[in-house]
Amino acid sequence: MIKSPRGTSDVLPPESAKWIYLEGIVREVARRYNFDEIRLPTFEHSELFSRTVGETTDIVEKEMYTFKDKTGRDLTLRPEGTAGVARAFVEHGMASGPLPRKFYYLGSMFRYERPQAGRYREHRQFGVEIFGSPSPHSDVEVITLAMDIAEELGLTGTELYINSIGCPKCRGPYKEALIAYLTPHIDELCEDCRSRLTRNPLRALDCKSERCKALVAGAPSSLDYLCGECKEHWDRFREILTAVGIPYTVDKSLVRGLDYYTRTVFELKWPPLGPAGSTLCGGGRYDGLVEQLGGPPVAGVGFGMGLERMLLANEKGEKPIQAGGEIDVFIVCPKGGEGEDKGFEREARLQELARAFRRKGLRCDFDPLQRSMKAQMKQADRMNARFVVILGEDEFRSRSASVRSMRHGWQKTVPIEEVLATIEEAGQNG
Ligand SMILES: [Zn+2]
Ligand SMILES: [Zn+2]
Repeated sequence: MIKSPRGTSDVLPPESAKWIYLEGIVREVARRYNFDEIRLPTFEHSELFSRTVGETTDIVEKEMYTFKDKTGRDLTLRPEGTAGVARAFVEHGMASGPLPRKFYYLGSMFRYERPQAGRYREHRQFGVEIFGSPSPHSDVEVITLAMDIAEELGLTGTELYINSIGCPKCRGPYKEALIAYLTPHIDELCEDCRSRLTRNPLRALDCKSERCKALVAGAPSSLDYLCGECKEHWDRFREILTAVGIPYTVDKSLVRGLDYYTRTVFELKWPPLGPAGSTLCGGGRYDGLVEQLGGPPVAGVGFGMGLERMLLANEKGEKPIQAGGEIDVFIVCPKGGEGEDKGFEREARLQELARAFRRKGLRCDFDPLQRSMKAQMKQADRMNARFVVILGEDEFRSRSASVRSMRHGWQKTVPIEEVLATIEEAGQNG
């Protein structure tokens, strides 16, 4: 038997109905904030990620699905969404159009990592990006958008963690301070952090190794090294959060594991998911990213949100999405007896009737195998039908059918032409 690859998952009905609902919510909240959808390829040139996410990050060093195509191009299944959106922004010359531009995306991301609850090797992600606004108002805007999604999904009590990691100007002195702090402890660092120490010491700050975590707890904070402009942005950002009543916690160890981030980084957490997996979404600024990809200097800010994690949270929250549910009408039409010319005429009316319901927007089904009356009534029960229409031999002889409300138990026999009207009349209450 061939199974799905490790770290992937099949979404089966009725679970898939939850996904449709969830995707509807994120699209709707993005619409309210005036973001438009951007649809991009699921694979890109590998160089896009090594140049922006960073050569010395876990994602690029260990987690990418990279392959050569038949002509030897070096391609990678996208491990995250922002680099691709920035690539498209530059490629289509959007910097010379009206700014800011606001995009959202929805799609699969691929990372080769250890599968765990709410974390897969192929996972669905929703993300937003704003290009062309260095204003801290945009930082706050993407954060409130994420909070609104969480709220729509019944996740009350989300917690916002923020930090600023500065710009390339203030990064230099900060890196030096970090290297000076870590060098005496070089033997205590994990192998990765040791090899990255001089090239990219920031990566030690979000290393998953327990020893590194303990060590960096006392490391210098980027907040103490912010240049004048970064400091101003950081102060203003927090002032706005306070002014609009969003509580936050400054987390000096928060850096996010990607090199393109500048200034603001943030995570939105929901504690009931447990200490390891409580992050619903993470993001920040990437003011140098567009320029790095050959475009003009255009500021950017956004976040990515893992949708498996959101569903997991939703199940534990106050408004769990109801999957599956019910159908509106099930038409019971057992096979005709010898005396009825095998019921061919009745079968034709069955198709007609079902289509009439469907064109009215009702969810309708019938048994194409035309099993016994008893079997079909069972089927209607299993599908949670609100109404059952019985198109039996006896009824049909008098050009009528029986309508039964499964919720209220009433049943009446009406002329075939009136079946649709009878159900519409009974409507939601029936
Ligand atoms: Zn700076
Ligand atoms: Zn480490």
